Amino acid sequence: MSNWVVRLAPVAVHFFLLTSQVTEVSSLSPAQPASLSSRSNSKGSFAGPVSRRSTSLFGIRSTLARARDSLFSAERSDADLKSGIAFFYDRSSKLWEDVWGEHMHHGYYVPEDRTDHVQAQIDLIDEVLKWAYGAEDLAHIGPKRVVDVGCGIGGSSRHIVRKFPGSTAQGITLSPYQANRGNELAKEQGLSDRATFQVADALNMPFDDSSFDLVWSLESGEHMPDKRKFVNELMRVAAPGGRLIIVTWCHRDLEPGEASLSKKEEKILAKINRAYYLPKWCSVADYVDLLEKEGAVDIKREDWSYIIAPFWKAVIQSSLNLKSVIGLLKSGFSTVRGAYAMLLMLRGFNAGVIKFGLITCTKPVTSELPP
Ligand code: SAH
Repeated sequence: MSNWVVRLAPVAVHFFLLTSQVTEVSSLSPAQPASLSSRSNSKGSFAGPVSRRSTSLFGIRSTLARARDSLFSAERSDADLKSGIAFFYDRSSKLWEDVWGEHMHHGYYVPEDRTDHVQAQIDLIDEVLKWAYGAEDLAHIGPKRVVDVGCGIGGSSRHIVRKFPGSTAQGITLSPYQANRGNELAKEQGLSDRATFQVADALNMPFDDSSFDLVWSLESGEHMPDKRKFVNELMRVAAPGGRLIIVTWCHRDLEPGEASLSKKEEKILAKINRAYYLPKWCSVADYVDLLEKEGAVDIKREDWSYIIAPFWKAVIQSSLNLKSVIGLLKSGFSTVRGAYAMLLMLRGFNAGVIKFGLITCTKPVTSELPP
């Protein structure tokens, strides 16, 4: 009997998600926020005056198409991905902040059984900086001009400028909600002259070449559909001698002679991609390869999957209370599906296919960079 419950539970959850998707999509209206309506426009559903009947027929067709794509974990186009990311974070960031605070990333679980989760998230930033610069260099040099690529609501930027007197940070995100909230929090914390946030695309950043001595990307790389362009942009905005730090979800490195992940591994990742608006994954080795091609030097990599391992269990536990469940349901389908995908993340880490990768390097001072 209990065996049946365990087997049927994922089916039931999937069914619930599909039906709530139908409800959500059919309840969209042209009055939705910009990020949402651009998503709808990309499908053409709200563009121009159309009859009520054809609108509803189109609505049903696109709803069915979405339900089918969701069921088969279909890959999204780059345009859908971009508007979907903005929509997902517009909708879910308030709930995350209410439950977890201003940092939207994993925690540093050393010791493994620590329960101060927000502090664990702050420690992750500090430990990553220490790992990348070395404790001594960090104390002596420290960053002065920081770009926070995929900044969420700006937790890293504000922490870094507080830590390094005289430094400034500029954060970019696809979500208008997050950019506004980041600026609001900077004002509340008396940091608005040193930490600012705007909506911009990491694949086409609104910054001059060589502008920053720290290019920081914490758990945003996994969203980038074109990793080569992403790495190219990170290197472009880094000042000569500046440091890049990329902390991101990767799939495991492929073994020699292995052409791809197994079908089973691909299937787990495809489901996570639908929920978190992610494109195809790459490995840490792929990042190293791309950085080498860009002429980066002092490249260092590390796998911290074991350090962040307790995080998802903590997130899942924290969502098992009435306030979180109500908040979750109020945040809509994409957030509910994001919560469901936590179980898949856990499964992916346990299966060894998902890695929490750290990569750092510097942009050379003198040598010619490839075009
Ligand atoms: N680094 C933050 C947030 C991580 S969540 C933190 O640790 O708190 C992922 C972030 O990446 C979101 O803010 C999302 O908007 C951003 N993002 C994803 N794709 C992006 C893109 N193409 N350009 C800019 N930001 C992007």
